[in-house]
Parts: sequence; structure tokens; C-alpha cells
Amino acid sequence: MKTDQYTHPDYYGLDELYSDEHKLVRDAARAWVKKEVSPIIDDSYEKAVFPKHLIPGLGEIGAFGPYIPEEYGGPGLDQISYGIIMQELERCDSGLRSTASVQSSLVMYPIWKYGSEEHKQKFLPKLATGEMVGCFGLTEPDFGSNPGGMITNFKEDGDDVILNGAKMWISNSPFADVAVVWAKNEEGRIHGLLVERGMEGFSTPEMHGKLSLRASSTGELIFDNVRVPKSNILPGRSGLGAPLSCLDSARYGIAWGALGAAMDCYDQALRYSQERIQFDVPIGSFQLIQKKLAEMITEITKAQLLTFRLGQLRNEGKATTAQISMAKRNNVEIALNIAREARQIHGGMGITSEYSMMRHMANLESVITYEGTHDIHLLITGMDVTGIPAFARDMT
Ligand SMILES: Cc1cc2nc3c(=O)[nH]c(=O)nc-3n(C[C@H](O)[C@H](O)[C@H](O)COP(=O)(O)OP(=O)(O)OC[C@H]3O[C@@H](n4cnc5c(N)ncnc54)[C@H](O)[C@@H]3O)c2cc1C
Repeated sequence: MKTDQYTHPDYYGLDELYSDEHKLVRDAARAWVKKEVSPIIDDSYEKAVFPKHLIPGLGEIGAFGPYIPEEYGGPGLDQISYGIIMQELERCDSGLRSTASVQSSLVMYPIWKYGSEEHKQKFLPKLATGEMVGCFGLTEPDFGSNPGGMITNFKEDGDDVILNGAKMWISNSPFADVAVVWAKNEEGRIHGLLVERGMEGFSTPEMHGKLSLRASSTGELIFDNVRVPKSNILPGRSGLGAPLSCLDSARYGIAWGALGAAMDCYDQALRYSQERIQFDVPIGSFQLIQKKLAEMITEITKAQLLTFRLGQLRNEGKATTAQISMAKRNNVEIALNIAREARQIHGGMGITSEYSMMRHMANLESVITYEGTHDIHLLITGMDVTGIPAFARDMT
């Protein structure tokens, strides 16, 4: 069996900026990933199944709601620790990180921020340990980049509401115990509802045929006259801003995570360039290989500094949506480019599952699309600097 030799590149001494707690969190996550995930991830990926047996371990390393306070069963860590955990997970596989991101930022975060005290007590401790798994239903078959157009809706009926509609592309949906579903009320205002497995008329069929994020489970959410108690509506916030604030938290984690995939590709490429002999010398002695490696570490270093600073801003509650968009967009793009270059450095071996670059590359094609596509994030930056939204004709 191949051994996972990963060590993180740190060209600008970022470790000196990490606290002892950050390093402990990182070491624990890395050790767990190397022991439990690295040996099985290729098999999961090839079979296109999410390795569910890892869920309790993810809870133990604090990957579910790292920043959720201890009173609700979370580890109560800071935002940089959250980022570090996502980085350690995604440097192994984006699908693994996706499961933790969804549970943390798209399920626990809205319950913590917008749920009632009863919701928090009922769901957060079990979500933190992995005893319960959640999913987040925003995207619909006809509304992806434009979620405000959603047609999933609910009507009041006594103490309940009746929910109808469908969500698509929902990570973790096939095995989730609870879904945070965004739907419109009779006035067309968006609310978050906690829809629980077992409610009549609620089904979660798995989507098949993905050539990316194969070790993550993706499905639909179908609501056919589902009766949901009114008490399951998140009371703290309504409107599109509510789900978008959850996406801020998730995209922040993705920025750290995608960088982890880039760091893993670079780490392998550097090692291979020193071991692989051609023309009687290590390929790392060729200028064209050095150019690739030098450009990779330059981009990784820039992204590490950007991401760490974003973590500080997030800790202070000051990071803007546009700053998060910039980091998500930049880091996924550099990760994809680095995965491609690292694969080339490995020659033919780079296309095999002996190395992780091809898997990272295929995974990152989802990461560059979900949680706001690459181009939508560019438009968010454009809007931020010009003050003019360019998303739709009638907005300009
Ligand atoms: C593996 C995977 C997991 C996912 N998990 C979840 C999940 O857990 N929960 C959830 O709710 N969703 C999830 N999604 C959905 C994801 O967020 C959407 O796929 C994404 O928002 C894009 O929507 P779309 O696929 O409908 O593409 P579209 O919105 O149809 O976009 C198609 C193309 O048009 C471009 N485009 C659209 N509008 C504009 C514009 N105004 N200007 C310029 N270009 C534009 C886009 O950039 C893109 O290139 C997941 C998706 C994937 C692939």
C-alpha cells in the first residue's frame, strides 16, 4: 500500500503566525486523515461511494462545526482553525471536505445563527458528533446561479406548512437526517425550514454519473405536499440574505480547502522531481520543471497569505462577501492549474491513482462551479469595485 508522505509547503513561515491551538488542530486532522482516509480514498472514489464509516471520526477531529460553541456540543474553535481543518481534509479529497463544509457551514451555521433555542439543543450536539448528518437545499433544477428565482414553496395549514418543490445537486442528501431547505412562503419571501427524514412526501434520490467529487454523495430533495410543523421554520432570519450568509461561511472554508489540494499536488510534484531520473539526472534539475515548481510555490504562498488574512478578518467579524468571493475564486483557480502542472511533472504516472493529482483535478471541476461559479465570483468582485451589478440585463 502506498504511504501518504504529505508535508505542507510553508515558504513564507506562516507557521510562525499560527497559535499552538492551530497547530494542534492541524496535527490531529492530518494524523487522522493519513491513518483513516488516505488508505481508502481511491477505492471510494473509484466506486463513487461516500465512506460513511468516517463520519464519527470527522466529528472527533472537530470537522463538524469547528466554531460552534461548546454549549451546543461544538469545539468552540476560531475561524482559522476551521480553515485549517478544511485544508487538511481537502488536501486529501475535496469530497471529504465537502461533507464537512456542508455539515458545518450550511447546516450547523444556519441552525446556530437563525434557529430557535429548541432547534439548537435538538440538532447541534448530534450534528457535531456526526450522530446526525445534514444537507442544504438551495439549488433547483432551473435555478442555480440565480437562487432567488426558486419555485419551492410552502403554504400555511394550521400549525403546519405544506411544502412543495424540488432541489437538485444537494451534497449529502441521500443519507441526511435533516435538510435545511430554502423555500418561499405565500408572499414570496424565502425562509429556511428544517425538513426531517421520515416526513411523508419527502424523498432524497441519489444522483449518479458524476465524474467529479465521486467520493461525495449528491442527490435531490423532493417535496410532495410535505407537512412540516411551523416550529421547524428558522425564526431568526428570512430573505435571500439568510442562505447567502451561510454560503459566505462555506466559501470561506472552500478557500482554505482548495488551497490544501494545491499544496498536496505541489508536495508530490516536488518529491517526484527529486526522485525521477531522466537523462541520468533528476528531472528537477531541468529548467522547465523548475519553472513549474517555482510558479506553483509562488501561487501557493500568495494564496496562503490571502487566506490567512481572510481568517483574521473573519475572526474579527469583518470579512466581506466580496473578500470571501475573491479568495474562493483565486484559490480554486490556482489549485486547478497546479493540479494540471503537477500531473505533467509526473508524466504517465500522473494519470494513475498512485498519485492524487487527477482526482484533485476532477474534484476541483465541481469546486470551481459550486457555491457560486468562477464567473459569478468574478462578477461579485466587479460589483464590489464598481458598485454596479452585472448579473442580469435589468440590473445594469
Ligand atoms: C457536486 C456538486 C455539489 C453541490 N452541492 C450543493 C448543495 O449541497 N446544495 C445546493 O444548494 N447546491 C449545490 N450544488 C449546486 C451548485 O451550487 C450549482 O451547480 C451552482 O450554483 C451553479 O448552478 P448551475 O449548475 O445551475 O449553473 P447555471 O447557474 O445554470 O450556470 C451555467 C453557466 O452560466 C454562467 N452564468 C449564470 N448566470 C450568469 C450571469 N449572470 N453572468 C454570467 N454568467 C452566468 C455560470 O457561471 C455557468 O458558467 C452542487 C453542485 C455540484 C456540482
